[in-house]
Amino acid sequence: MQAEDIEFATEWSGQALRLMADHGIPPCPENYSIWFRYVSGKLPELNKEIDSCIENGHAVDVEVTAALQERFFSEGKLTDMTLSTGVKLNTEVNQILKIIEETVGNSTALGTTVREASEGLTNQSTPNDVRRAVEAIVTASRKMEDRSAELEEHLQATKKELDELQQNLEKAHTEARTDGLTGVNNRKAFDEAMARAISAAATSDAPLCLAIGDIDHFKKFNDTFGHRTGDQVLRLVANCLKTGALEQHFVARYGGEEFAVIMPATDIATAEAVANKVRQTVQARELVKRSTGESLGRVTMSMGIALLRPGDNAASLIERADGCLYEAKHAGRNRVVTEDCMAEIPQAQAS
Ligand code: GH3
Ligand code: MG
Ligand code: MG
Repeated sequence: MQAEDIEFATEWSGQALRLMADHGIPPCPENYSIWFRYVSGKLPELNKEIDSCIENGHAVDVEVTAALQERFFSEGKLTDMTLSTGVKLNTEVNQILKIIEETVGNSTALGTTVREASEGLTNQSTPNDVRRAVEAIVTASRKMEDRSAELEEHLQATKKELDELQQNLEKAHTEARTDGLTGVNNRKAFDEAMARAISAAATSDAPLCLAIGDIDHFKKFNDTFGHRTGDQVLRLVANCLKTGALEQHFVARYGGEEFAVIMPATDIATAEAVANKVRQTVQARELVKRSTGESLGRVTMSMGIALLRPGDNAASLIERADGCLYEAKHAGRNRVVTEDCMAEIPQAQAS
């Protein structure tokens, strides 16, 4: 569980138990874990399944619960899948090696058969001798043909296993780097992308900017409208960032209600324009509670932008972007502050 979730655990727990009582669901640990996750909203797919069950008037009964458990909480399922593909692959490869050995043996046997048959034939040989020699050669080469076909079949099967393994690995890689709530890159992916962007910038003249954005007064929003509605706002902000960012930009959820955009080949003026566009899009969206149609007003966000300098590392660049974000909050929120706007940035480096 993430640290920022812990403060909501009591609230989620109460809500989960209430919902279970409402739907007549026995409060056993398996059911509870599903409903706790449902209330947390951390697994949008799970919520979709449960919501559609309820909307269609189906009971979330033992069978449905077991199916949800299997689908969403059989932890390490992907790892298991990957492992089992690996084991299958191993068996397949061993079989192939065996067939190759035999095929080589067969081809040696064929060579021997041909040699012996030809040695056995002289100008005194009868047509019957020749027939027997040819038959021996045909039998030996058929045997070899059969083994080659078998080898080909196994090679095809192995290729299929390899493709499956590759797909599983790619899926696991993507899942491990995606934020479950918003679908954008998570912190792990962000850290890796920052390291890549900084080392790429070191060998290029292109400017690299980092923007960090934070939703304004989000605690109050959560306290007023509830955590699940807050989660919808996080998704909305993530979508605005994804839509507003340029193609080469990398959008990530940096922390609870903080997002970051790594902006390679982007000067500070362009970065500022992109950030302002996103900020305006967020501000322009009137939030409406889906279930009741109630208007929830609007949310705003503040952003800080820093430009990579010689000698910077990820930590120093993040620190300066954070400093700009702090300034944006301090100056009244719902704004973008870049290093260019900050007085303490030395002129020579802020250009
Ligand atoms: P500021 O304008 O200064 O940023 O004020 P703030 O209230 O946004 O900042 P603060 O750091 O006090 O509160 C951040 C809040 O973000 C706390 C928590 O309620 C909310 N939050 C963090 N992670 C999540 C999440 O995953 N879902 C929801 N709904 N809220 C979250
Ligand atoms: Mg914050
Ligand atoms: Mg905030």
